[in-house]
Amino acid sequence: MKQLKLSKEDKLAITESLEKQDFETFISYFQDSDILEECDYISFRFKEKLAPSENAEFQVNRKFYYAKITQIIKISLLTEQAGFIKGQIYYRIKDFEDCINEFPKLKECTSKDLFLTEQTKWFLSTTFQQKIQVNPIEFYSDDTRILKNNQYYTRAQYNTLKQQFKPPINQWTTYCFCSKLYDPIEPYIQCDQCNEWVHYVCSGKSDKELKNISKLKFICFPCLDANKKKKSHNEFSQIQDQESTKARSYSINNGKRKK
Ligand SMILES: [Zn+2]
Ligand SMILES: [Zn+2]
Repeated sequence: MKQLKLSKEDKLAITESLEKQDFETFISYFQDSDILEECDYISFRFKEKLAPSENAEFQVNRKFYYAKITQIIKISLLTEQAGFIKGQIYYRIKDFEDCINEFPKLKECTSKDLFLTEQTKWFLSTTFQQKIQVNPIEFYSDDTRILKNNQYYTRAQYNTLKQQFKPPINQWTTYCFCSKLYDPIEPYIQCDQCNEWVHYVCSGKSDKELKNISKLKFICFPCLDANKKKKSHNEFSQIQDQESTKARSYSINNGKRKK
């Protein structure tokens, strides 16, 4: 630990960085000095504790930020002490507004989608709002009907420089014959024939029928369609059978019919 020695210019720059809320610069002046203390956690009102690797929501100038905590420090200047929290930023769906045409599938995401980016930001501890839970989307089962105010899910990470998702969008879980992205809040019904999960709204069943879902025999539209085609094909084959009996005497190799 070294004693902090600041020039007049330093002090000016420090004041300026604070005014701009540029905490990265502000903190850099105190790195390795005895007034900066690394912390294992920080405590808030209601005895809530926040530690690195946990997730939290912050509010800065009316804007909300979601971050995965990477570092917590305290800086003590004279009689005052300030806590700073560094976090890796999660992108929300509205952060993709400028490139939504590049990733049209993102329009199917919800306000509960978070994408961890490589960007980091320092937050003043007073801007902390609450801890949040960020789970892989598969964590939420079909029984999940409501996500709590502080519960979020993630499908992928996003590199803002490369503009790349990991895993890529075409590997994200989709259900139903409409191939929409999985949304744990949406109710699904399983097709008894192909076992695909189908949105209630895509099932063609009434609310009344869906209330007794366990007793409901359900075949999805694509399966119904396929069955219909198969049936008419079979009928067609039968007609062909009769025709071909007549034709058999003319062509012995007329044998491509299904049994
Ligand atoms: Zn659907
Ligand atoms: Zn089906």
